[in-house]
Amino acid sequence: MKVLKFGGTSMGSAESMNFINEIIQSNLDNGEEILLTCSALGGVTNTLIEFGGLAYSAKIEESILLFNQIKKIHFDIAAELKIRLEVEIETEELFSALYDMMQGIILIKEFSNRSRAYLLSFGERLSTRLLTIFLKTKKIDVQQFDSDFIRTKGLDYLKDEVDWDITNSQIKETILPFTSRNIIPIITGFWGVDSEGATRLLGRGGSDYSAAILAVGLNISKVEIWTDVNGFLSADPRIVKDANIINEIGFQEASELCFFGAKVLHPKTIRPVIENKGEVWIKNTFSPNNIGTKITKFAKESHKPVISISSKEVEMITLDLFATSKVKSVVLDEVFQLSYQKEIHIDMLALSEAQVSFCIEYNQSKFQDFLDKLYKICPFYHKTNRSIICIVSPKEVKGQIGVAGKIFASISESNVSVDMYSQNASEIAQLVVVKTIDTKKVIQNIHENLVVGIQAI
Ligand code: ADP
Ligand code: ASP
Ligand code: MG
Repeated sequence: MKVLKFGGTSMGSAESMNFINEIIQSNLDNGEEILLTCSALGGVTNTLIEFGGLAYSAKIEESILLFNQIKKIHFDIAAELKIRLEVEIETEELFSALYDMMQGIILIKEFSNRSRAYLLSFGERLSTRLLTIFLKTKKIDVQQFDSDFIRTKGLDYLKDEVDWDITNSQIKETILPFTSRNIIPIITGFWGVDSEGATRLLGRGGSDYSAAILAVGLNISKVEIWTDVNGFLSADPRIVKDANIINEIGFQEASELCFFGAKVLHPKTIRPVIENKGEVWIKNTFSPNNIGTKITKFAKESHKPVISISSKEVEMITLDLFATSKVKSVVLDEVFQLSYQKEIHIDMLALSEAQVSFCIEYNQSKFQDFLDKLYKICPFYHKTNRSIICIVSPKEVKGQIGVAGKIFASISESNVSVDMYSQNASEIAQLVVVKTIDTKKVIQNIHENLVVGIQAI
């Protein structure tokens, strides 16, 4: 059995729905048992964010206009697929709930993260219904499910953690009766519910993670992430136009890249699948015969100095240890406790006797409070508009001489100064912090010199 996940990039048009149909037909022709999870139609989650914001600012006319636009996006695709009436009937209740929510936000002038999570889950509630109706017209036996059986821990409305025990047993209970009768489930990606039944999101791009959750719950070893590129690439194709496809990549290498910004896969997806002895594949919906990328525990040996590069925007903070009477270990202890309490994750850290520098992801709702409390621990200065560039080598690079030297030579060729640097002991990931404005040229240069230019270590 396989879990297939179709992202927003694969769900944006009638044409892409036809590609999905072909992919499913070919799986069925090959006798594969499958289940599906999907994102919202391309761009709809962002439109829902904008919609909630307009309602919150009491921009009534604009909110109604956007509400109608969201409806139109779905109904236009449905019309092209000749299922408009069925989709209108099936989504009537959802659209009326969405309209009520808009009025509620306007009236109460409140748009909490709880309401936001519920509102954003509508993208997937709508898209899975549309796809289900379409596939039924193609004589595929499918059943739509809302992911109410994915139980989250209730820690964060927008980026929650999974409660695995309850989720695993609920998935089996809900889904197996259908798969055992050869009915293909189509399950909303991106969200689950807490113990009170409130919708909780799994973070932006979280439908990939939904696929992993379903695979673990049903003990399925193969997860296919269907998107709009031919696989995991050696760099973000928006930065390096001719980035290479990586046919096979180790899970640690892929995890580092995804954690540090490779948008192709939600960073939490890989680990549960690999721990369950499975594989994650990245495949192109629009070119399904392309083999794609396999992410696996035991990747083939590679002798390239660098296999891929990613980047992530961060804030950089430097604590001035000489300005406090506290010893370094006390300062570190307090900073880690604060970051845990405020759920501000430290992405990178460098220590010396006089200073502690670290990078964190900007988080609008929690950041100022974090800084205020941090100031009570130790004086610091703060640099904005910085990015971590994550340069990943295969595990075979360990002990090889000169890779870091070549990376730094490339950076100096770009005439860019480095704010921070770190390398983990496995030598897989080298992290450098530069001004965000310099990220593109640094990545392009490292790619040119170390991914394309040099063939082997
Ligand atoms: P989906 O809607 O299918 O989930 P995403 O937009 O979330 O698609 O992810 C796919 C996109 O990720 C690609 O179109 C590409 O622009 C971007 N991307 C960034 N880094 C990489 C990388 N290293 N390999 C492949 N794609 C990448
Ligand atoms: N629709 C959600 C988002 O845009 C989840 C996903 O695409 O995976 O973040
Ligand atoms: Mg995605």
